[in-house]
Amino acid sequence: MGDGACRKMEAGLTDKVVVITGGSRGIGRATALAAAARGYRVVVGYASNKTAADEVVSQIAASNGKAIAVKCDVAEERDIIDLFEQADKFGTLGALVNNGGIVGTSGVRVDEMSAERIQRVLAVNVTGSILCAREAVKRMSTRHGGQGGVIVNLSSVAAKLGAPNTYVDYAASKGAIDSFTTGLGYEVAGEGIRVAGIRPGLIDTEIHASGGEPDRHHRLAHMVPMKRVGTADEIASAIIWLMSDEASYITAATLDVSGGR
Ligand code: NAP
Repeated sequence: MGDGACRKMEAGLTDKVVVITGGSRGIGRATALAAAARGYRVVVGYASNKTAADEVVSQIAASNGKAIAVKCDVAEERDIIDLFEQADKFGTLGALVNNGGIVGTSGVRVDEMSAERIQRVLAVNVTGSILCAREAVKRMSTRHGGQGGVIVNLSSVAAKLGAPNTYVDYAASKGAIDSFTTGLGYEVAGEGIRVAGIRPGLIDTEIHASGGEPDRHHRLAHMVPMKRVGTADEIASAIIWLMSDEASYITAATLDVSGGR
């Protein structure tokens, strides 16, 4: 083993590829920067904001890291297949972070919801995550000749709280992610792949603005036992830890990172 490889093991570094859907902004962006700092070659997926994705890639390159931006709307199977084909050209896949996610307009009750809205939320948050995991398992599973790896799925505390009068469809999509983490974790536990979930609480990102209420997290901060919102970096730290060998006995499990909420 060369000196470089020794140093990488000692420092817990890796030069494998991590695919992060929605790596352009918020939690995904923070995770991309943190993963690059640990040596990962980062594939920054984005839905439409190329400028934001390119900025993440530039920031990583400025710190001598390696990253590429790939457009991928996870509601489109073709985009997902292309995302992983681009990742294959970049190196050996070691991790997937199923982060890209959306909310519908906040404050809409179930008796007011359109079918289009519900279908879009489920297509992005649930079907997209399962299809990305399919592509990752095909590459990482020892059953398919792979070297193993880690899948981290972004759930939400909404999965437990239900988000009544806010976005029950979103909460239900994250409940599905929790079941998926459990089921896929068991399915590939003997194939070198760990599957873990994170349930963030109220985190300071632009997702609240996209739900039509930019200040929602600050308005509700008093309901958090720790009496504050969380940062994208605090979620990224937990994701990076779950991806690392320090979490080597964790699979089919989901961690609340929510200040106690
Ligand atoms: P955000 O700031 O709104 O960023 C969303 C990211 O997802 C962006 O990179 C966006 O890409 C991407 N994205 C949006 N639609 C997509 C699609 N159809 N396909 C692929 N990527 C898509 O969100 P965030 O707060 O960081 O949330 C990240 C994850 O954490 C989500 O799964 C969310 O449900 C979960 N979460 C967040 C909170 C919170 O309070 N923030 C709480 C619980 C769970 P573009 O830049 O191209 O638009």
